[in-house]
Amino acid sequence: MASDVRVRAHAPGRVNLIGEHTDYTGGLALPMAIDLGTTVIGTRSLSGAVHDVRLRSADADGEAVVGPTVSDPAGLNPAWARYVAGVVHELRPTIGFVGDVTTTVPIGSGLSSSAALELAVALALGFDGSAYELAALAQRAEQVASGVPCGIMDQLASAAGVADHALLMNLTTLAVEPVPVPESAAIHVIHSGQHRQLAGSAYGDRRASCERATTIVGPLLDASVADLDAIDDDETRRRARHVVTENARVRAFAAAFRAGDLATAGAIMIASHTSLRDDFDVSTAVLDALVDRLAKTAGVHGARLTGAGFGGCVVALAEPGALREGWLVRASAGASVTTLE
Ligand code: ADP
Ligand code: MG
Repeated sequence: MASDVRVRAHAPGRVNLIGEHTDYTGGLALPMAIDLGTTVIGTRSLSGAVHDVRLRSADADGEAVVGPTVSDPAGLNPAWARYVAGVVHELRPTIGFVGDVTTTVPIGSGLSSSAALELAVALALGFDGSAYELAALAQRAEQVASGVPCGIMDQLASAAGVADHALLMNLTTLAVEPVPVPESAAIHVIHSGQHRQLAGSAYGDRRASCERATTIVGPLLDASVADLDAIDDDETRRRARHVVTENARVRAFAAAFRAGDLATAGAIMIASHTSLRDDFDVSTAVLDALVDRLAKTAGVHGARLTGAGFGGCVVALAEPGALREGWLVRASAGASVTTLE
């Protein structure tokens, strides 16, 4: 039918090389879009009375059925339909859509399957704007779907990905600067085997600590470690110290990548993990043991937990061939959509 259009939308997951728990403070991060992603294939119907969005996923039960005027995305079932509903809520598409979701991103492991789903759905439904606008829409969708006040880093990495490049992000200005990934860098993502509890509450706590610190010392991106002496509460100071030192590590890591100095980049990853463990308290014994073991493996430059923590994945930087575990990921281009015949 002339009014029906078949489309294929694809959005990559992402791995954050460094800059963890900095995005919601307007800090620095260095993620990259990866060659694992989520694909939505389906048909936009421009005619018809009811403009529902109907999706099935190969990796989740049930069907997401979302009406065009959905008002409470977080109340929908099955639970994964909330992400679809979040996108519909923000995009207000004027078409119907019937399609299928497939993914190669491990779900719930810190590689941002949720952002990949949101972006792929938004593009499939006809979103037409800049990478930044796409990321902002998907971030709002995730917030209304999950109730977690997440930052924009995941969505921006998936939207603005560049093949063979990591993305140096300033989450205050939202500037994104591609940094070439050295050819001799093998980036592995290894699941800890520990199911991540994205502890919405722990996330909220950390965010609140950072906000408290900001009211005392100003934006953490501009603060020095010495400035943090003005914070009396020990826990708040440690949380802020993680963010301040992590921002510095992002800059140093990007410089090391540009110089092709993988030994230095690896050492900075270890320092990041230590800070997440001791100052930010988002690691676990399982993640610590995995990072330890990887760091001692010949040919591994460094490793750290990636994602929010409390389980999930570790990212390791190694010589090609040194590691035979996890997903060997390459930096990939950002989300896109094509019309099918
Ligand atoms: P992460 O983004 O790190 O993978 P999240 O907890 O943020 O973990 O998001 C995982 C949730 O996103 C899943 O529980 C599910 O609701 C939804 N989701 C992601 N990808 C898919 C998919 N391909 N099919 C169905 N639901 C998905
Ligand atoms: Mg997610």
